[in-house]
Amino acid sequence: MMKRWLILGLAICLCSLSFGNALAAGPEELHTRNVLLVTIDGLRWQEVFRGAEERLVSKEAGNVKEVPATSAAYLRDNPADARATLMPFVWNVIAKEGQLFGNRDAGSEAKVLNNRHFSYPGYNEILCGFPDERIGSNDKIANQNITVLEWLSRRPSVGGRVAAFCSWDVFPYIINSERSGIPVNAGWAPVEVAEHADELAAFNRVSAELPRMWAGVRYDTITAFGAREYLRLKKPRLLYVSLGEPDDWAHEGRYDLYLDSTKTCDRLIAELWSLVQSLPEYAGKTTLVLTVDHGRGREGDGWKNHSVDIPGSDEIWMAVLGPDTPALGERTGKDYTQSQIAATVAKFFGEDYAGAIPTAGKPLPGVLAPAAK
Ligand SMILES: [Zn+2]
Repeated sequence: MMKRWLILGLAICLCSLSFGNALAAGPEELHTRNVLLVTIDGLRWQEVFRGAEERLVSKEAGNVKEVPATSAAYLRDNPADARATLMPFVWNVIAKEGQLFGNRDAGSEAKVLNNRHFSYPGYNEILCGFPDERIGSNDKIANQNITVLEWLSRRPSVGGRVAAFCSWDVFPYIINSERSGIPVNAGWAPVEVAEHADELAAFNRVSAELPRMWAGVRYDTITAFGAREYLRLKKPRLLYVSLGEPDDWAHEGRYDLYLDSTKTCDRLIAELWSLVQSLPEYAGKTTLVLTVDHGRGREGDGWKNHSVDIPGSDEIWMAVLGPDTPALGERTGKDYTQSQIAATVAKFFGEDYAGAIPTAGKPLPGVLAPAAK
C-alpha cells in the first residue's frame, strides 16, 4: 500500500515537472541563462551602418579639432570599411555571428514609439516595453512603471540576480531602485565591488579627480569597469550596462569625440563579451542585446541634437548576439520598435513578458531559435 502511494506521488511529481516546463516555453531548450542588456545613448544608426560621416569631419563646421588625425582614424573609401573601423566588435563579431536591425540604407527600419525622442522616455520604452505619455522630461522622478528588470528579478529564472551600471545619474529613478531593490551604480557614484582593491581604489580616485565634463554623466570606461567587476564577482543573471558619452559629445558639437567615444563603447562591449566567454557560468550561455534610446538629426547640424522637431530623432538600431540567435547578420523588415526590447530580453529567460504585460511590444521576431541549435 505504502509503495503504491509512493509510486503515485512520484508520477504526479514527474508529471507536474514536465507540464510546468512545457508551460514555461521550455527554458531548458535555450542555451541562454544570462542576458547582457547594453545601451549607447544617442548613437545614430548612420554612424553604425555607414561609419564616420565625411561631411562632418571639417574644420569649417567646427566639429573636429584635428581634421587630419580624425580623417586618418575614421574616414575610409567605402561604408563597409568605415563602419568596421569605427565599431570593429559590431561588424566583425555581431554582424557575423548575430543580428542587426535598423540599416535604413538596406531597407531595415527601427524606431521609437514614444513621441518625445529624448532619453528618459526612450529608456522607459526600452525597459518597460511601452511608451508613457506622462514622462515628459529627463527630471529625476521615480518611474511609476515596472521595468522588465524588476519584473524579471521577481521571476525564478532570474531570482533577484539583476544589477545596472549606468553612466547617467538619472537611472536610479528610471529603474526605480528604491521600489525595485535593483542595485543601480550610476553617475559619479564610486564603484563598490572589484576583485582587486588597488584597482578599485585607482579607478575611484581617477573618477573623483578627473575634470567633470558633465555633472550628471561619468565617463563610460568607469561604468564598464564597474560592470565587469560586478559580473566577475556577483554573477548576475541579468546585467544592464548603460553607456552615455556619445550623446553628450554630440550635444557639445564635438564630432571627433563623438566618434572616439563610440569606438570606446564598441571596445568596452567587446571586453565585456570576452570576459563573459572566459567565465564558466557565462560562456556559451549568455546573450547580448544592444540598442539606443533615440536617434539624432540627419541633415545640417541636426546630428548634434534630437527632439520631435529634428527629423531622424526617432530612428534607432538594435543588435542581438548569443547562443540561441541565428547568425542572420543584417535583418530586413521595417516595423521594428524600441518597445520590443523588453519582451525580447525576457524571452531569452523563457519568460512571456508581452503575455503578462499586454501594453508591451512583442519580442523581436527571429532572434531566438533554440530548435535550430
Ligand atoms: Zn541627448
